[in-house]
Formats: sequence, structure tokens, C-alpha cells
Amino acid sequence: MRKNIVAGNWKMNKTLQEGIALAKELDGALASEKQNCDVIICTPFIHLASVTPLVNPVKIGVGAENCADKESGAYTGEVSAAMVASTGAKYVILGHSERRAYYHETVEILDAKVKLALTHGLTPIFCIGEVLEEREANKQNEVVATQLASVFSLSKEDFSKIVLAYEPVWAIGTGKTASPAQAQEIHAFIRSLVAEKYGKEVADDCSILYGGSCKPSNAKELFANPDVDGGLIGGAALSVADFKGIIDAFN
Ligand code: PEP
Repeated sequence: MRKNIVAGNWKMNKTLQEGIALAKELDGALASEKQNCDVIICTPFIHLASVTPLVNPVKIGVGAENCADKESGAYTGEVSAAMVASTGAKYVILGHSERRAYYHETVEILDAKVKLALTHGLTPIFCIGEVLEEREANKQNEVVATQLASVFSLSKEDFSKIVLAYEPVWAIGTGKTASPAQAQEIHAFIRSLVAEKYGKEVADDCSILYGGSCKPSNAKELFANPDVDGGLIGGAALSVADFKGIIDAFN
């Protein structure tokens, strides 16, 4: 059975003290509630070791927003998958459109990152999605198929461990959201590609999250679609009220 997941991506926001306060507040807000989805917070690297022991691991999983494409060594400024895992974090966002666009992460780099993450026991949350011009040219299926193909070198066993996130770049941080019908259509297409490659069982068990200006007011409608298994949340993950409002869409 696939999991419903609400994952926050804090991006480059919050000092360490602010991040600790946000994690504590979220932990408190979820403490006495029955959750109908897994909750994950992906934080800047420097927060991980402090935040991980602060939250109830039964309620909240912690993840990084990136990891290095190398195992270890002379790569000044990089943080390896092993280092992320050593903080107690369990997840890592990979292939986010901001990393692809601003840090030129190629298919080869992402392939190395995904494999290293899996080697070190992290669950990659692998992001795919088209830019506005591609959507306007009706090329979104082509684009996500190409991006997805970069994780199709994984074995069936390894692919079964990853979470996918469909994030139309035109909806990220813009206030524009894919309509529930647009989200369902492309999520179903993504699942069909997974089924073609790995079989129906793997596809049925694969969680595919929607990301892009998801908020409490639209989460329920988006998550009600049969192929939308939750959300990857940017801006709204920085406020406990908003993030919890999205988590509550599953209640
Ligand atoms: C994101 O960057 O993963 C994201 C979905 O951002 P936002 O929710 O702010 O659009």
C-alpha cells in the first residue's frame, strides 16, 4: 500500500534557532493528533543534527534538501549522503527544480546523488516537472518522462524505495497551482510510466506527491485525486498553522 505523505521543504529559510523553534512547534501541534499521512520536514543541512532528536520520529521524519554526488573526500563545502544519514535524517530531496536550474544539476549528477542516498539508507524524494514554456507547448508529458528516465536505471528494489514529487516549475512559489484535474492527469501519466518500467505493483505502491503553491485551501481538492498521494510544500511549510492545515487535508 502506498503512503500518503506531506513533506515540507524549508529551502534556505530559518536560522538554526528559528528552525528549532519551528520544529518544536510542529512536534507539539501534532503530538495529540491522529495523522492520516506521513509527515516529513526537509531542512537546511545545518539544522539536521539539532532538529532530528527534537521531534517524535513516529510522527515526523526529517530530511535534507540535497546531498553531494560524491561519497567523500576533497569536495570543499559539500555534504555527503553518509553525513546526512549520520544526523538521523531519513530523507533527502533530490532533483528539485531550483537545484537543476541554479546549480546546474545534470542527469549524471542526479543519478549519482540518488544512488549514494540509497546506499546510505536515505529515501530520495525525487522531483520532476516542466517549466511554463513547456506546459504552454503541451510538452509536460515529454519533459517528465525524460526526467523520470534518469531514475529508471535503478533496480526494481531500489526504485521501490523512492518517493516521486511532481512539481510544475510554473507553480513553485508563484501562487499559481495546477488544477486538481491537471495534477491528476499528469500523476496518472507518471504512474503509468512507472508501471511500464517496473510493473503494476511497484507503480501502485509508489507515492507521487504534488508540489507547487499547495496550501490549506487547495490541499484537500488536490489530494482527493486517486494518483495524488500528498504534497511537497515550500512556502506553506514555514508556518505551523499552514503546514498543519495541509496535513489535515487527509483527515
Ligand atoms: C517547492 O519548492 O518544493 C514548493 C512546492 O514550493 P511552494 O510550495 O512554495 O510553491
